[in-house]
Amino acid sequence: MLKLENVSKFYYNKGIIASGFTKVNLELKIGEFVVITGESGSGKSTLLNVISGLDSYEEGEMYANGNETSHFSEKDFEDYRRKYVANIFQTFNLVNSYTVYQNIELVLLLNGYKKRKVKKKILDIIDQVGLTKFKNTKVSKLSGGQKQRVAIARAMVKDTPIIVADEPTGNLDSESAKEVLEILKRVAKNKLVVIVTHNIEQVEEQATRIIKMHDGRIIQNTEIKRISKEPEAIESDYNNISVFNKYRLGIRNTFNIKSKFLLLFAVFFFMAAAILAEYSSFQMSEKEQSDYGYSVGFRDLSENRILVNKKDKTSFTSEDFDKIKELSNVDYIVEDDVTIDGGIPISRGDLSLHGNMLDIKNFKGELDYGRMPESDDEIILKIRNDHFYIEERMDDVLNKTFSILKSQGINAWSNETAGEVTIVGIETFDDVNDYDCKFYVSKSILNQFRADINKNYSEMKILLNDKYVQFTIEPNEYVEKGKAIVDDELKYQFKNYRIINKPLNIYVKNIYYNEELELSISNTYTKYNIKRLTGLDKYDNNRFKIFINTDDYNSLYNKPTHQSSVYVKDAEIIDETMNQLDNLGLNPKKVTDFKVNQGETSQRIIKIIKVVVTIILIIVLFFISYIIIKIILKSRNVYYTTLRMLGATYKNVRRILDIELFINSTISYIGLMLFIYCTKANIINLEYIAKLSEYLTYKEYAIMYLVIIVISRLISIKFARKIFKNSAINTYNEEV
Ligand code: ADP
Ligand code: MG
Repeated sequence: MLKLENVSKFYYNKGIIASGFTKVNLELKIGEFVVITGESGSGKSTLLNVISGLDSYEEGEMYANGNETSHFSEKDFEDYRRKYVANIFQTFNLVNSYTVYQNIELVLLLNGYKKRKVKKKILDIIDQVGLTKFKNTKVSKLSGGQKQRVAIARAMVKDTPIIVADEPTGNLDSESAKEVLEILKRVAKNKLVVIVTHNIEQVEEQATRIIKMHDGRIIQNTEIKRISKEPEAIESDYNNISVFNKYRLGIRNTFNIKSKFLLLFAVFFFMAAAILAEYSSFQMSEKEQSDYGYSVGFRDLSENRILVNKKDKTSFTSEDFDKIKELSNVDYIVEDDVTIDGGIPISRGDLSLHGNMLDIKNFKGELDYGRMPESDDEIILKIRNDHFYIEERMDDVLNKTFSILKSQGINAWSNETAGEVTIVGIETFDDVNDYDCKFYVSKSILNQFRADINKNYSEMKILLNDKYVQFTIEPNEYVEKGKAIVDDELKYQFKNYRIINKPLNIYVKNIYYNEELELSISNTYTKYNIKRLTGLDKYDNNRFKIFINTDDYNSLYNKPTHQSSVYVKDAEIIDETMNQLDNLGLNPKKVTDFKVNQGETSQRIIKIIKVVVTIILIIVLFFISYIIIKIILKSRNVYYTTLRMLGATYKNVRRILDIELFINSTISYIGLMLFIYCTKANIINLEYIAKLSEYLTYKEYAIMYLVIIVISRLISIKFARKIFKNSAINTYNEEV
């Protein structure tokens, strides 16, 4: 069966050549029971590995069943092993997390046997080694002797003509050693058994040949019993493992070591979470970049203007402003930022002026005409000195009362009047490029204007009897505080039309605040009573309205300022001032960053950075998780090397690991999705995460899943390569 002619084996290790064994000549036949002895380091294991095809040799020729093997490829040796050889090791080399039955079944599944067809055979063999009682026990729970009996059963089940056992009793107490050798002797019939052991006396009667090795050479080769006619070697059947059984093993491996499952779960979970969090926070800043405050178009793009809002999104207090003013480079603050950019028209008869509203506090100029305001509705007009109204119609402007038009959003006005102001003073300026006026007004007019803007930029919902109703809210002096007078129509929303004293909730939401008002309905109006209830006489014009108290109404919109503008003295050192503002808990942005297309450009840059950072993060996370998974899978190296020794190919190993990681990562991802869902549904209270998740679309979740799958795929490829990088026995020795 086996013939070695002058075979030598060398080890190359970092430039040093060591000899495993030298010039071995040997002929072994089926039916022999060969016992090899010799002191440690004499080359016994090396010889067995070469005989088993687990390792290559460098010199001479080994004939296996008459075939030369010196030109054998890795694949040829694999075939040779699968046809002819089964190994038993000193360290058992079993899968500890599998049961006795599964360990024996494993070798058959890997060699393409069908699961159902092998059951009887396996049970039979388990019985032969006396482990029937333990067939469903995990190997990790067995004693050394029992483990070695499982290993023998596994070597027997494939029915190969050669069984190679390297010190199978080395790790066993003498009692168990005896039992194991007894079993080995029993299975030796019609096979070639090659065994390394120090317990010669226990195998003496069985041995047909005793070989003694010393220093890499055979120094004694005694044939005790001659095999006159060698029986024919019957090749063991094998096939490729079926797809179904690959999945079976993959699934089994996913769950059979719980700690490993949980660790992998955590790694995939956090990897996906990190990528999603990073990606969505970019999405968020991109979004924020596009809706920073209300200032859609900035009218004042001076270099010395910084926009600020508070990081915690609350409104500014006077202490906030005081702190800002203390900064040395700060010139002045325009508290109501919106008034700088939101120009408004005021009109009187055929005259109309367009400009920004500014706080009278910030008026620093000198009047050319008229006087400073003395009451809240008096204003100063700043206007170009060559303006037609100044040159030709001064009498129609100075000391005249103008109407402020009601705003319908930035740069849109209705014909309704929002209030009246009187121009009492005029300052002129000389700038051919600036056609806009400025109105310096009192705080109360500014507040009114801001409330108007707030209203136009808010979303409002009215909740009545658990339903949202599409009515408009109007302030009305006749209505008591905390009450609402509604269209009689609305009573049909209630059983028996009992609407009086029912609660009515109003919700106002914008980028800065959420406000809620709880009212109760005090009355309903009809054509007949509208005049008495509200003072309005045209019923048809006022249908589908909800009238509430003016103070209540103002409480919804007349909110303190959330965005201000800081003007610096020296624009050269504006960055320094920005840092100081940042340290005060503010978000500073230079208004010049928003100059034509700049907003878009910075969004585009964020987009590019997002893609680059995401890719880098994925790569970095891939390596980090590969290292972590490698450590976690370290315990699996032995398993997969065992698979290899039992006949699994590179592709098989990759596929089985692939399935394992696929299931594990999918479960992690589902876990992550559930987690995000729970934060969204407020089952888990993590507002920030819930908020971040709003910036992700289903498509992005799906892409993320694919990324995770691809990463787990790459990991299994890398891992499988590693298992097959070296000869089977080297890989195994490295791992054990
Ligand atoms: P035994 O099994 O008889 O104890 P081995 O076959 O394990 O002996 O070792 C024979 C010789 O080969 C020893 O000198 C040992 O140091 C050397 N050897 C074994 N394995 C390797 C290896 N992977 N790399 C280098 N030298 C090795
Ligand atoms: Mg050895």
